[in-house]
Amino acid sequence: MRIIRTAVEMRDAVEPARNDGVVVGLVPTMGALHAGHLALVRRARLDCGLVVVSLFVNPTQFNANEDFDSYPRNEAHDLELLERNGVDIVYAPTAAEMYPDGFGVTVTVTGLTEGLCGARRPGHFDGVTTVVSKLFAHCRPDAAYFGEKDYQQLKVVERMVLDLDLSIRIVGIPVVRERDGLALSSRNAYLNVYERRIAPALQDTMRAVAGRLSGDVELEAQCRWGRDALLAAGFDEVDYFEIRDSKTLQSVEACRPGLRVFVAAWLRETRLIDNVAVDEVE
Ligand code: AMP
Repeated sequence: MRIIRTAVEMRDAVEPARNDGVVVGLVPTMGALHAGHLALVRRARLDCGLVVVSLFVNPTQFNANEDFDSYPRNEAHDLELLERNGVDIVYAPTAAEMYPDGFGVTVTVTGLTEGLCGARRPGHFDGVTTVVSKLFAHCRPDAAYFGEKDYQQLKVVERMVLDLDLSIRIVGIPVVRERDGLALSSRNAYLNVYERRIAPALQDTMRAVAGRLSGDVELEAQCRWGRDALLAAGFDEVDYFEIRDSKTLQSVEACRPGLRVFVAAWLRETRLIDNVAVDEVE
């Protein structure tokens, strides 16, 4: 497994494979890897002849009051996991390599970024689409793998690729969960034992709401119920509990196929997000 830290070297490394018609797959991550990330890697390994995983904690997608400094970092452990999972190249650039002095471009997707996390984390998706554009330019993948855990991010990246005419196939991978239903996340490491016991209420509550959605049930009332249930379970604050269209992420008034429940809530200092397709829940 090669470890590459500069854009020039990265481009040189994929060039021969591309010329030989080898399919190049990219899995962008911020490190602190867990089984959720590895599900993306395994799928890339199945689909592609050359698998690149990027490790980069991207400063521009964190707000000033967010957890950039404390975000978990453990490169040695990440490299070991990636090697064991058959990755060919790890791309781990420095912040100076990604954002040299004078850097002045921001890639913005409008519309899809306006609600949910976009409303709560101003500038977050600009940071994501800008860094993902650069990773695409450096790694030149044919396919890139993103988790449905960050469902809004997946939709935003799909839109960016479509609107910029990039010939990159975006592959979404279902959420990988702990046995008790908590979605795997690097931020779960922040939870103390007490908070960890409360955390599965996130998915339990989403599923409870999803299970009630049929006929002329009032969606807003269901979301209020979900929000209250999370607070009652011990969450300290709910950023949003919403039901939206899975494709457009538009708010919806009435029950119909193709809906998704989205939630973001805080356990003390830790913000957790999750989502579930209503059609998946019986
Ligand atoms: P991150 O390192 O948190 O930026 O995540 C890198 C990629 O892994 C993103 O595409 C995430 O959506 C995906 N991912 C993170 N957690 C999970 C999970 N539990 N299941 C599936 N994909 C995930």
